[in-house]
Amino acid sequence: MRSPVQDYLEAIAEQCSPDTSGHVASYIQELATADPDVFGVALATVDGHVYEVGDARAPLTIQSISKPFTYALALADRGMDAVGRKIDVEPSGEAFNEISLSATTGRPRNPMINAGAITAAALVEGAGPRERFERSLAFYGRFAGRTLEVDDAAHASEMASSHRNLAIAHMLTEAGVLEHDPEEVVDQYVRQCSVLVDTVDLALMAATLANNGVHPRTGDRVLSTAHVEHLLSVMTTCGMYDAAGDWVSAVGMPAKSGVSGGIIAVLPGQVGVAVFSPRLDEHGNSVRGVDAFEKMSSDMGLHLMHVGRGARSAVRSSLDLAQLRSRRRRSVEEEAVLDEHSGRARVHELHGDLLFAGAESVVRTVVEDDAELVVLDVRRVEEVADVARIMLNELHDRLRLDGRDGALVDPGGRLAAPDGRDATAQDAVVVLDTRDAAVEWLEERVLERHGEHLVRPSRTDARDHPLVRGLGDEAWAVVEPLLERRHHTAGEVVLEAGSRFAGVHLVVSGRAAVRAPGPDDAWWHLLTSTAGMSFGELALGSDGRQETQVVALDDLELLVLPADALERLDADRPQVAAAIWRALVRDAYQMTDRALRESAVREHS
Ligand code: GLN
Repeated sequence: MRSPVQDYLEAIAEQCSPDTSGHVASYIQELATADPDVFGVALATVDGHVYEVGDARAPLTIQSISKPFTYALALADRGMDAVGRKIDVEPSGEAFNEISLSATTGRPRNPMINAGAITAAALVEGAGPRERFERSLAFYGRFAGRTLEVDDAAHASEMASSHRNLAIAHMLTEAGVLEHDPEEVVDQYVRQCSVLVDTVDLALMAATLANNGVHPRTGDRVLSTAHVEHLLSVMTTCGMYDAAGDWVSAVGMPAKSGVSGGIIAVLPGQVGVAVFSPRLDEHGNSVRGVDAFEKMSSDMGLHLMHVGRGARSAVRSSLDLAQLRSRRRRSVEEEAVLDEHSGRARVHELHGDLLFAGAESVVRTVVEDDAELVVLDVRRVEEVADVARIMLNELHDRLRLDGRDGALVDPGGRLAAPDGRDATAQDAVVVLDTRDAAVEWLEERVLERHGEHLVRPSRTDARDHPLVRGLGDEAWAVVEPLLERRHHTAGEVVLEAGSRFAGVHLVVSGRAAVRAPGPDDAWWHLLTSTAGMSFGELALGSDGRQETQVVALDDLELLVLPADALERLDADRPQVAAAIWRALVRDAYQMTDRALRESAVREHS
């Protein structure tokens, strides 16, 4: 099947191609004699797919499109401050080859016109012009994703008529901006302009910038994020010479054009686009190139200032303990405390990108909410900006200062505090892997804070176990001898899935996990039983067959009323048996009620 994107790009090229207005550059012999009709379009995505149309493989000399890349290398070599002391970043509103410097600073106005570009070329590290050039060439090659070469004839031909550039270089030397021999620097600069590329190379170079400095195909990190941001800003305001204003309003992408007829443009995070058509308008920009970009931008919505959907809240749902409960079984008393204080513990599930606006919506939700305990579940979050990490870690600190507390469900550690943050504060954030673990964490905190009156036994006496507590002394005297005391160590399987009903298991101390078989041999944790709970009786609801597996989580002490003993009790002492059944049913209802509540919440959130 043909891609509609390919068809669309071809249609654009077809619409633009009849326009033969404009003139090829004539001041460089090689360009004056070039074929004026070639027309190539290429679009490269940040994941490395390239669409190419027409003469996208026809070679051209890179010319001024080299400027942003040399400037980038100077930034990488010397840093933003050192480069900033030599070259300004103000749009000049002048032609690219103007022999002028800023009247206020005495520096070239920006790196995208010749004065700034010649200065940038001189700022590249290297023992001499040759090495500075070789390093530039290798650097461009990393943006293109292949080794590039120079068109020596183009270099020679431009050198034969480079009086303006020599004049600019001498002016720069005179002004104390250029520290190397001006003629050598011009030679280096003209050589960089003569590097051979094609439209596909240019699209990939632009896509590397769109991809935040990482080549979409090779994965090479060519330029740092900070330098990409700076470079794209300068391209936005200065990339199209004295047509920068028209370009930004009509096309709206950071761009750079060259006198051989190439234009590149970058849509950050999305695509790099390049067009090649040699006839130029009065500003020195490709006529069909500008036209094609205007059409692509408006039809494809590529304008940088296009305001899409408003920033959505990053909070997808907010639930409290009235709607969420962990898989850990609780005593009746604990349930009562959790019910009474359910609104004090909340889980906010976040989604989308956590950039400034998203993080702000989370902060506001938590600040305006009076929940005492807050869990942020960030598993559905996509991009996380540093500012969001800082804000949410700060939010956590403030919760604690307020006597509140918070935790994260963040198995990937995406919200880990950025470097340089106080390590102790960072350590204090509780990070959990699953929603269930987080809800259990909330329950424990609520019980700690509001269930002081509950003595939470780590051990139940046989007589005190809720299942038999209600029995009278006489009934207890009947039941007690039937109970078998058993011990299991951590990891031991207490009940195998598929086994027959083996009796009612009362937990005296320790913890047991009830698990169901999940996909890929994994086990799904259903619930945790602790002192005062029981398990095993659920088999009675499934035809006497144990459907789950029960495993000891630590040293587990049990009292078991075996299946045959229960049967005998049914027959011989129906009154006593009924009392036990009643306790079992109450327990089962409590569990069902919780499960129903939970599935209702799941459906609606
Ligand atoms: N080599 C050309 C020059 O310096 C590049 C200019 C351009 O592409 N606009 O004149």
